[in-house]
Amino acid sequence: MSEIPKVQYGCIFETNGGPIEYKQIPVPVPKSNEILINVKYSGVCHTDLHAWKGDWPLDTKLPLVGGHEGAGVVVAKGDNVSNFEIGDYAGIKWLNGSCMGCEFCQQGAEPNCAKADLSGYTHDGSFQQYATADAVQAAKIPKGTDLAAVAPILCAGVTVYKALKTAMLAPGQWVAVSGAGGGLGTLAIQYAKAMGLRVLAIDGGEEKGLLCKDLGAEVYIDFTKEKNIVKAIQDATNGGPHGVINVSVSEAAISQSCDYVRALGKVILVGLPAGAVCKSAVFQQVVKSIEIKGSYVGNRQDTAEALDFFVRGLVHSPFKVVGLSELPHVFELMEQGKILGRYVLDTTK
Ligand code: NAD
Ligand code: ZN
Repeated sequence: MSEIPKVQYGCIFETNGGPIEYKQIPVPVPKSNEILINVKYSGVCHTDLHAWKGDWPLDTKLPLVGGHEGAGVVVAKGDNVSNFEIGDYAGIKWLNGSCMGCEFCQQGAEPNCAKADLSGYTHDGSFQQYATADAVQAAKIPKGTDLAAVAPILCAGVTVYKALKTAMLAPGQWVAVSGAGGGLGTLAIQYAKAMGLRVLAIDGGEEKGLLCKDLGAEVYIDFTKEKNIVKAIQDATNGGPHGVINVSVSEAAISQSCDYVRALGKVILVGLPAGAVCKSAVFQQVVKSIEIKGSYVGNRQDTAEALDFFVRGLVHSPFKVVGLSELPHVFELMEQGKILGRYVLDTTK
C-alpha cells in the first residue's frame, strides 16, 4: 500500500467569488462507506464556475474545494467498502452520495434525492490530490484507461448521454446541440452520432465550427454571425430538429430552442445559466405539441453506459491538460467562452 501523506495541494476558496488559493490542505480521511482516491486528473466543468460564483439557489459548502470530474486511483477505503480494492481506478462524479432510501433513490434517480451530496459543491471535490467518494456512487474505471482522457466523461459525458436518452429520438432524426463547442457539447455531438442521430451544432466562432464539424456535426450555425437563427436551423433540418440538447449558458438560446424545434419535438434543458427562465409561447407549445424536459447528470447505470462508449473508442473529449494551480485562469477563459472542449487539470502541478 502506498504512503498516504497528511497534507496535499488543492485549490480552495473561502467565499463565493473570492480568491481561489492553490495551497497545502489536509488530506481527507475516508468514512466507513467511502474510498480515498488519489486524483490524477480532473476536468473543469462550467458547473465548477457556477459553484465558485454562487450562481444558483443552492448553497455551496465553504470553504470549498471544487471539481467533480476526477479520475484516479483508490489508495484507502472505509471498513464497509467491498466494491473497490486498493489500486483500482475510480472516478469522482457530481453525485458523490445519496440517502439510498427515498422514493427517488429507490427508482435509480439518485441525483434527484433531496439529500444528494454533491462533489465540488456540498462535498470537497476533485481539485485536490486526494478526495473522498461514497463507494456506492464512485465510478468504476477499467485498469489501463487514460485517466486524463476519461475525466471529462465523468460529468460532461454522463450528462449529455443521459440527456440524449431523455430525448428518446430515433436513428436518422435531427438533434440540435446548442453550446456544441464546449465541454458538454463536444461530447454530445459524438454520443448523438454514435446513437445514429444527425447533428446540427450551434456555437460561436469559426474555430468551434471546425471542431464541431470534425467531431461529426453535419451543420454548424454560428450564433455570433447568423441573423435569423430560427430560420437557418429550420431550413437546414427541413422543418426543425426533432430534439434539442441545450448545453449553452445562455438564457436567450434556451428559450429560442422552443421556437426552432420541430412539431412533436423534445427540448432538453441541461445548461444552468444563473437565474434563467425558459420561455415558451403557450400557443406555439400547444399547436406544435412540444415537450420541454430537464435532465440532471445520470445515475450509476447511465455512468457505466457512458463510460462504455468511451472505452469502445466512440467518444473522446477534445481536451487540453494544464496544472491544477492554473484553475483561476481556466475559469477566466471559460467565462469568456474561449474554451474548445475541456480543460483537464494535472494535480501534480
Ligand atoms: P462550456 O463553457 O464548456 O460550454 C458552453 C458553450 O456554450 C460554450 O462553447 C459557449 O461558446 C456556448 N454558448 C454561449 N452562448 C451561446 C449561444 N447563445 N448559443 C449557443 N452556444 C452558446 O460549459 P460546459 O461545461 O459544457 O457546461 C454547460 C452548462 O451545463 C453549464 O451551465 C453547466 O453548469 C451545465 N451542466 C449541467 C449539468 C446537468 O446535469 N444538467 C451537468 C453538467 C453541466
Ligand atoms: Zn459538471
